[in-house]
Formats: sequence, structure tokens, C-alpha cells
Amino acid sequence: MTTTTRFAPSPTGRLHVGNIRTALHNWMLARKQGGRFLLRIDDTDAERSREEYVAAIRADLAWLGLEPDGEERQSARLDHYERAFEALRAAGRVYRCYETAQELELKRKILLGRGLPPIYDRAALALNEADHAEKAAEGIAPHWRFRLDHEASITWDDGVRGAQKFDPAQLSDPVIRRADGSWLYMLPSAVDDLAMGVTDVLRGEDHVSNTAVQIQMFDALIAAGHAGQRPRFAHEALLVGSEGKLSKRLGSLGCDAFRERGIEPQALIALLARLGTSLPVEPIGERAALIESFDLETFGRAPAKFDDAELERINAAIVHQLDFDAVAPRLPDGMDAAGWHAIRPNLSHVGEAAEWWRLVTGPIDPPAFTEDDRAYLREAARLLAWGDDPWRALTGALKAATERKGKALFLPLRQALTGMDHGPDMAELLPLIGEDEARRRLENAAG
Ligand code: GLU
Repeated sequence: MTTTTRFAPSPTGRLHVGNIRTALHNWMLARKQGGRFLLRIDDTDAERSREEYVAAIRADLAWLGLEPDGEERQSARLDHYERAFEALRAAGRVYRCYETAQELELKRKILLGRGLPPIYDRAALALNEADHAEKAAEGIAPHWRFRLDHEASITWDDGVRGAQKFDPAQLSDPVIRRADGSWLYMLPSAVDDLAMGVTDVLRGEDHVSNTAVQIQMFDALIAAGHAGQRPRFAHEALLVGSEGKLSKRLGSLGCDAFRERGIEPQALIALLARLGTSLPVEPIGERAALIESFDLETFGRAPAKFDDAELERINAAIVHQLDFDAVAPRLPDGMDAAGWHAIRPNLSHVGEAAEWWRLVTGPIDPPAFTEDDRAYLREAARLLAWGDDPWRALTGALKAATERKGKALFLPLRQALTGMDHGPDMAELLPLIGEDEARRRLENAAG
């Protein structure tokens, strides 16, 4: 079967760095196996889902370069959930309940107060048809729970966590459908994973207990005649801030914020691809290399720490590798491939290119020089000659003509030509400044 993964965000907000990581790993898993990566918009919650978030999710994935091979929307698949529900109902796997949120909360509190796990007591299973008729007569519609099979223990071999075992009696029968007929997340997701041929569900470890429940749903759906196979599961450890906690900040950190900060998508991807794995986090701009090394076996159980300083380091290293063509529209007017090449090693962010480009276009602001340096710069202006490598020629001629070497040879030239003590390689910069302008700057500094 073709490996098929899916990224299934609910369009109730923007993607944050944790979602981005989940999307990336699903994309990588599919790419590594030559399979398919689906975007599934989980928009059964009509009240909280927003079209603008659907658009933002697509735009964010495009910015990251994680284009899906297909897109599905749960709101367009309600008839599938209805049919699955009817099949489960016929098989006696769903039942009607009437407890209010307050009543359920009270039950929870009582159990917790007694030191017991807050598992739903299945009181509604004891209702008979007369009870249901009475509720209907009062105009009270039921919500529906999926009845877990307490006899069938739940096991799976998790791609990250290894052998998993759950006792269904220790889980609450999940509510799958609200009284207004709308769907909660659990059942539609299982129905879709079967129908869409999803082979691998890779998601955060906050979904482990959902998986336990959904495994019984998959089995019940297949037993009720649904085509498809239960997918493999893998749950990755959650992402935490560098302070080691699940921070609010991380939960709101999305593509826009990264883009505004000048973070390249390649940097975010290089970091998130390997964070929390035993592989070294490196500024790998080549996706093929990241995909090649992707392996669930390398994923650790400890929370993965997201560190902004590490992202900045990776970003700078990625910027130093970016080709001119990849950044051209973001560069200052007139800056060509040679200019980008000269300036690139000095940047932490592409946006800083304009600052450095000013060294080429001027005006520059050289420091005041000593009398001795001024004489030296006058000599430099006289010896300046244009050729293949004017910087090498100039410094070679000055070395021969003066006693100077090292810093005394180079620094006054750099200062006179750029106004700065440090910066791009002068051998690359000088041809960009050009012969006449370079001579003018040297003469100017010589006073
Ligand atoms: N819509 C669910 C969520 O965002 C999907 C979880 C999943 O099955 O991957 O949590």
C-alpha cells in the first residue's frame, strides 16, 4: 500500500510551531517512502472554524514548501460520517446520553474526590426505550457516545513509543456526536483515515489516549463492513520552550512571526526536522538530505526543546548558503549575484543585505586617519590598478612599497574604502565598488 500520511489541522486558529513540526514530519515520512501527504481540514466544528484560517493554513504550508498531494475537508464529508454512524448504531456500538455538562462535571468531581479516575459511569446505557421516549417528549435530544468494548484490550506498536497497551475499562466512552447532530473530532477522523487509505498517523503524544479509543473505532468500522485498514501510529514527544515548559509563547508562534523576524523557511525546517531526535540539528538546506535521514527510530521520548537562539544560528548558516536566485526579489536595487555573494557571509537575515550594500553604493563615512595613514592611503590611491583581482594587486603593491604588513596594511584600506572596521571580503567587495569610486574614496580619506 502506498504510504499515505495526513496533516489534519482544525481551522480554528493559525498554525503554531508545534503544528508546523507535525506537518513537516508527516510530509517527510511520505516523501521518504515515495508516498502521499494529505492536508485534511478538520472543520466539523462549524462555529469555531473560519475560512480565513483555512486560507492561512494553505499559505503557511506553501511558504514552508510542504505542498500537500491532496486536500480533503471534513465539512464536505458529513454523509460519510452519517453512514458510519448508522453502521455503528446497527452494531450496538453507539448509545444515547442526556447528561448536561454540569452533571458530567459533578460526576467527575465526585470520582476525583474519592481518588478514582474520572471515567464516565455509563449511566445512560441503563436507559430503556420508555426513558428515551420521555426525553423526546420533553424535547430533549440525545448526544451520542461510542461504546468501548471492555473485553478487547487495546494494543499497538507505536512508531516512537514502542509497544502500547490500554485497558478500555480505564477509558471513558467518548462523546462522538452532539445533541445538535454535529460531530466531535474522534469518529470523523477514524472514518477518514480508513476511507483515504491513511497508512501512518503521526501526531503529538497528547493524542495517545485518542488513539486507544480510535483503534476500537477502526476495528468496529471494519467489522461493520468499512473498507480499509487500521493505520500504524506514532506519537512524538511534545515541543517545549527552551525553559522546558509548554509555553504560551510557543503556542502562538507561527509562520508570520518567523517571516517577520527574517527566519527562512529552510531554517525552520532544518531545525524542526531533527529537534527531539538523536540526529544532530544542522543547517541543512537540502531537503533531500533531511528526508533521507528521517527515521522514526531516532525520535526520543523526552520533550523536544525549541530554542530561539538555536533557530537564529541555523538561520544565519542557511542564509550563507542561499543562492542569488532564491533571494533576488528581496535584495536592494542594483545588487547582483556578485554583490549577494560578497555580502551573504555577513548576514544573519536576508533583510540586512541593504545595510551592507550601502558600503558599495555609498555614501560611506570613514574615520579620521593619522598623518601616517593618510600618506599611506595617498600611496594606495596612486598604486590602485584595475585587473582580475584589484585587491590582491593593490595590497601586493603596497606591501612591496611600504614597511606595512598585517593589520597596518589592511585596516586603513578597509576603513577608507568602506567606512567600517569589518565586513565582507575586500577581494569581493572592491570590484563591486569599481575603480573610479575606489580611487575617489582613497583620495578622500588621504585628505
Ligand atoms: N484535528 C485534530 C487536531 O488538530 C487532528 C488530530 C489528528 O488526528 O492528527 O488535533
